[in-house]
Amino acid sequence: MASPLEQYSPCPGGTGKKIRFCCKELLPELQRIDRMMEGGQWHACVEQIDRLQQKYPGRACLFALKGEALAALERYEELEPNAEAFVARHPDNPLAHAELACAAAYLGKAQAAIASFLKALACCREETTRRQLERHLWVVAEGLMDPYCRQAVRALIEAWGGKEATVLLDMSDPAPLWAKEPRALVACPPDFPWKAEFDEALQLANSLRWFEAERAFTALAERANGVPAVWQNLMIVRGWVADYPRAAEAARRYAGLVESDEDAAELEAYAAYITGEMLGDAVQVPKIEYPVIDLQSLRKTLEKDPGVTPLVLVRTEEEKPVLEQGEFYRLVGPPIPPHDVPEWACLLSIVPATAESPPELTLTGASPEWVAEGQKRLEALAGGSLGPGRSLPSDHGNSITGLYFWQEDLLKLDDIPPARKAVLAERRETFLRQRFPSLPLRLLHGKSFQEGLADSALRRRALGAVLLLEELLRHYRLGPTGEDLRVLLGLSPRGPIDPREVPPATVPLARLHLVDVEKLTGEQLIACFQRAWRFSAGEALARLAPALAHNDTIPWSPTRVAAAVVTLAQEPNYARALVWCQRWRQEARHLPGACGKFDIEEAWIRLHRGELDDIVELTKHLRAEHAGDPGIPEAFLRFRQALEAHVRGVLASARRAREPSIVAPDGGQPGKLWTPDSARTPGDRPTLWTPGNP
Ligand SMILES: [Zn+2]
Ligand SMILES: [Zn+2]
Repeated sequence: MASPLEQYSPCPGGTGKKIRFCCKELLPELQRIDRMMEGGQWHACVEQIDRLQQKYPGRACLFALKGEALAALERYEELEPNAEAFVARHPDNPLAHAELACAAAYLGKAQAAIASFLKALACCREETTRRQLERHLWVVAEGLMDPYCRQAVRALIEAWGGKEATVLLDMSDPAPLWAKEPRALVACPPDFPWKAEFDEALQLANSLRWFEAERAFTALAERANGVPAVWQNLMIVRGWVADYPRAAEAARRYAGLVESDEDAAELEAYAAYITGEMLGDAVQVPKIEYPVIDLQSLRKTLEKDPGVTPLVLVRTEEEKPVLEQGEFYRLVGPPIPPHDVPEWACLLSIVPATAESPPELTLTGASPEWVAEGQKRLEALAGGSLGPGRSLPSDHGNSITGLYFWQEDLLKLDDIPPARKAVLAERRETFLRQRFPSLPLRLLHGKSFQEGLADSALRRRALGAVLLLEELLRHYRLGPTGEDLRVLLGLSPRGPIDPREVPPATVPLARLHLVDVEKLTGEQLIACFQRAWRFSAGEALARLAPALAHNDTIPWSPTRVAAAVVTLAQEPNYARALVWCQRWRQEARHLPGACGKFDIEEAWIRLHRGELDDIVELTKHLRAEHAGDPGIPEAFLRFRQALEAHVRGVLASARRAREPSIVAPDGGQPGKLWTPDSARTPGDRPTLWTPGNP
């Protein structure tokens, strides 16, 4: 919260004036409301504002404060009329439009939210009012935060002027690199017959009139449909206005016009990604529901069987009541682990009786074959405790490929010895080599990858399918990816890219890892690292970070320290990492903030090595010397949490020896079973089924 309101504070109504010159007579009341807000007395706030509005109708500050209080109370249905009245009374007030944008965002109207927020920005005359829009910006951004559709959010934050926020967004966005690549509008190509129209459309796009720009470029595309620049800009602007189906259409038209197959493949993948179509190798997997006749004997039977493992869900405290309503088991087919990798696995979830219905058991699996196997096994094992099973259609369109990868999670959990993981990797590679290429894909209009490659009209989209497949593998943290995957699918590997022939700044993010690191100049190395760092380009970082950290011709700078930190974090040999860490800390000691960063890394290395005594010393030093360094308290807190979890884990491991636990890293969502190894940020596609939950 800002400092308390006084007569020279900016008016909270977004008028751009100081209170003294705007709504001086309301100052005592505004101060009172401000204190109520500080104290979280939102109900009282709304009542007080309602009273004041009788006496002072139509005042901007009262509309704005009421909007804030209603949003805090989550009374979304009242937000819109309040904002509409605000806009009607003050059509040039930025906060009025921003309130309307929030209301639209809460109601899921993405385009209306963007349009109103752009109006709000266009109405801003002073820096102070622009800054007052920050709260609204985040509300709108959150409303648009479909993870596949970040372009609109990024563009809005940039238009508002939140440089640092876009950096954070770029870093944390889990989207594939070809979807994250920020694309800039391109200028009119030479000899373009409708240059005036093109420039006008560009001008609209650059002056916050995105919807008009979209219409202008669409009109141009009808006339000049063979010009890549038109489609490129159209794809970008349609992304800004969150019109994803039409952004995808533009991306595909553009993909058909670019020179390189690689560029085209990335555009095709992007188009499929933002519309959520992905590969389209959909498959229906039934689930079987049984009424439980005898819960006690069912539990006993399950617990005795070597093929059944209870799954323990570890959740945050506040979610416990929700999760205790169900129990989960894994049922696997022969051979039984830990001696071997089973042929199939299914999940059983038991929902206890409610007033309306008896207890119920649901059996789900990752493929129709597995469900059939599981059904046979379960009925042979515990048929006496169960009523007749009902087969329900799956209520989610999973992909065969995604399901295949997810099967591995069901199979391995914690109890497959590492050596046997090779069996899974081998099965997966066989699937990718033999089955995937002949699966009909909706992405290729029902043709398979193999057929697509051979079809000149579909070839580029088929290459895009490889990127989507790779994204699925990354999602499940499985291999092979990159060039290994291409080779497995019969394609030739790409790269290396020689930076003396292709300027590294022009290499797309998704191919930055192909740049020949050895041939980069010092300057290029720094620039490439910074780009990879900003967009969390993992594979590129893995190559660029050590090259920069170990390059002693480059003086120590915050960038080289960042590279060193990445290098230490990814070095599997802890003894070696420790030596580097100590040497680099010494070399970079003159750099403010560097010591603390290396201390934190050393603490992590010591934790991996189990050297708790050294951690105690480091902790003392960090507290004494670096508590005020930027970023260090947060980094230290993350380390502390890991340390505590490690200590707790050691204590608890004996107790839980038999029960593999599924820990949701983010606490998961109530009522949903977090699926092992599949959790990333909310909304990750493909949507995974969750037992007992539609
Ligand atoms: Zn005012
Ligand atoms: Zn230090």
